[in-house]
Amino acid sequence: MVKETIRVYARLKPLGRRQQAGIYSVDDEKSASSLEITVPRDLADGFVNNKRESYKFKFQKVFDQEAKQDVVFDSIAKPVAECALAGYNGTIFAYGQTGSGKTFTITGGAERYSDRGIIPRTLSYIFDQLQKDNSKVYTTHVSYLEIYNECGYDLLDPRHEASRLEDLPKVTIMEDPDQNIHLKNLSLQQASNEEEALNLLFLGDTNRMIAETPMNQASTRSHCIFTIHISSKEPGSPTIRHSKLHLVDLAGSERVAKSGVGGHLLTEAKYINLSLHYLEQVIIALAEKNRSHIPYRNSMMTSVLRDSLGGNCMTTMIATLSIDKRNIEESISTCRFAQRVALIKNEAVLNEEIDPKLMIIQLKREIQELKDELALVTGKERTSQLSQEELLQLDELIETFLEDNDPESTLDVEADMRKIKYCFTYLKNHSKISDGKLLSHHNCEEKDTSEEAGREELKKMKELLQQRDNEINILVNMLKNERKKAQDALFQLNAASAGSISLKQSHSTNLEESQNPSRFLSLKEAKDLSSSVQRLSFISRMKEVKMSLGYQEAFEVFKQDHADSITIGDNEQLLKQRFAEAKCLGEKINEVRNKINHLKGKITQRHIQRAALAVSNPSEVLDTLDPVEEKLRTQIEEEKKSYDTMFNRLKGLKVEIEHLQLLMEKAKMKLQKDFEAWWTEEGTNLQIQREKTELVSSPNTTMVYPQFIKSSQHLLANSFSETTRANSNEDLSGRNNSIIFNNPSTKIRTSPSSSTSIPLTGDSQTDADILAFIKARQNILQKKGLGKK
Ligand code: ADP
Ligand code: MG
Repeated sequence: MVKETIRVYARLKPLGRRQQAGIYSVDDEKSASSLEITVPRDLADGFVNNKRESYKFKFQKVFDQEAKQDVVFDSIAKPVAECALAGYNGTIFAYGQTGSGKTFTITGGAERYSDRGIIPRTLSYIFDQLQKDNSKVYTTHVSYLEIYNECGYDLLDPRHEASRLEDLPKVTIMEDPDQNIHLKNLSLQQASNEEEALNLLFLGDTNRMIAETPMNQASTRSHCIFTIHISSKEPGSPTIRHSKLHLVDLAGSERVAKSGVGGHLLTEAKYINLSLHYLEQVIIALAEKNRSHIPYRNSMMTSVLRDSLGGNCMTTMIATLSIDKRNIEESISTCRFAQRVALIKNEAVLNEEIDPKLMIIQLKREIQELKDELALVTGKERTSQLSQEELLQLDELIETFLEDNDPESTLDVEADMRKIKYCFTYLKNHSKISDGKLLSHHNCEEKDTSEEAGREELKKMKELLQQRDNEINILVNMLKNERKKAQDALFQLNAASAGSISLKQSHSTNLEESQNPSRFLSLKEAKDLSSSVQRLSFISRMKEVKMSLGYQEAFEVFKQDHADSITIGDNEQLLKQRFAEAKCLGEKINEVRNKINHLKGKITQRHIQRAALAVSNPSEVLDTLDPVEEKLRTQIEEEKKSYDTMFNRLKGLKVEIEHLQLLMEKAKMKLQKDFEAWWTEEGTNLQIQREKTELVSSPNTTMVYPQFIKSSQHLLANSFSETTRANSNEDLSGRNNSIIFNNPSTKIRTSPSSSTSIPLTGDSQTDADILAFIKARQNILQKKGLGKK
């Protein structure tokens, strides 16, 4: 950023033949010049100031009458052109009254080549420099704007043959959200060399001249801004620099009062003064400290030159002075204006921007270069992924590091971002697993094929296997128990049928004493149970009963006959097989891992041996490949392959096992549901039967449970009939807590030889529950085929 005040120069026009010179003196000092103007006595009274006689103004430099165009260019324009070439914006504007030499200074005289002004000289200089500089690619454009009566005109519009200024395309000002000024309709003409640029300047000047009529005198009353646009870019760099160099020929600064014109011309003069008046206001505002608002927008000219005044620009002003006696007053006025301009500070910044497309191309190239360099330094191509071997090595390194209790131990994985990232991922996963159930250091890395994962899988599967083994054992034991109980039941029933024990006793004593209480419920227990569930509704009591041993027992038997239990059993077998396979695979994987480690150890040994050989025998060339090492590496590769195969199989097994487990879970749930449905249905049936029986049974003591009877018939048809026959002469009626056969009061059709009524607790609800229990048991036995025996 370059921060500096606007440079102000003065140029005195040579006096014409008939002109009378004013009194002035130029004082050249080292870094600045001063111009002292003395007001002649005959003028002092009237126009200027009757008290003071001389005025002294400071300039960067004062160019006296004889100063030539080349000198002016070198001092004033060349430094600005250089800045424009470097990427800074620049402005040179000429300010002065009409006829003071503004156009002569900016554009030049029409007669002699040596009279060329700043514009052609600057163009020539710039294209010269561009040609010399091969380090950058430049593009140059020019635009030529004329502002007349607050209207902008494009002097370079090639489509238009202007006969009047008003016929030229009108240029308007646009402001973007960042308050940058854009000129709409102002054409930017590319000029690739000096000739093209000069042609464009000539075209613009011609248009301006043609458009000028004796009536509008546009050349003196309009502002002209010739702009050179330069963009530069170093080959391969994404940075582009843009700069604008405005060369401005302002309208005459003379006062309206003095111009002495009226009508149409007066309007023009007003305009001229108005826009210069606004320029002055802008300059005053800029010179004031802490002034926040600068009235740039008041006129088109100040808007266009906004950046040149108090903005991002290196600006230079040339005050052109007609130093003849008649123009002293205007000259002093011009100088005063120049003094104010000299106070304005501008901040020129380098106009650089980055082309994203070029940036991408450049970065891609850079990446490739770095990759090449890396390959050159390390001797091997670096891919984005680490090899299996590298991963294995890393795993080992990390393990060693984790197991090392030395607080100063370090994990050295070279300056390789891939490895560093891998370590972080490994440690992250490790810490996650540690937070969970497994606290071992030997946890698996997510999905890669490292042996850690294999070990982890094995451990999990072993645990599952153990769990399943336990489950199977339990099931087998239950099966055994069930068989034993069934045999016991058979034995007991046979004994009953042999008539060795009276039915009365069988309920009051025998069953109580000799049978497993979980198998057959004694009457006493039945009573206990009935009293405990007495006040509950049937369904809710069924839920209570669910927890009882009988319920569980019923379930176990139900389960065995259920079609799904075969599927479950098959799956259990399959699962067992798979676990065994997984276990075996895990062991094999461990073996292969150990082999790989062993081979790696051998390679390391080989390295040490060869290094030792190099020390003892330096003539030995160690650059050659070691065939032993090569062989070891091949072996590792082969082991790695089988490791991968096994590991993948293990992974497949894991999926299969999980699936099987899910299937079993589902089948078990279905079984449970089916059983519950069956259990409830049986209970409900019993309830209905009980209600029916209540309606028809004796109101006194005896109750008949047809469902039970029916079941008994199915279950124990032969044995009970025998029992009946054997005990037919016993009078059991009227006895509480006894089973009565052939109850004469029953109207329900029963077996011709047997019917059973059970006077239990006397509470119908409780009795029903107990009977439900007994019935369930009988059904179980029936299911098992015992009833048919
Ligand atoms: P302005 O543009 O300020 O109205 P011009 O540049 O048109 O004034 O100058 C008016 C006349 O003076 C022109 O004929 C021009 O050639 C002549 N002139 C101006 N400055 C010089 C100079 N430094 N040397 C020779 N002739 C000059
Ligand atoms: Mg002029």
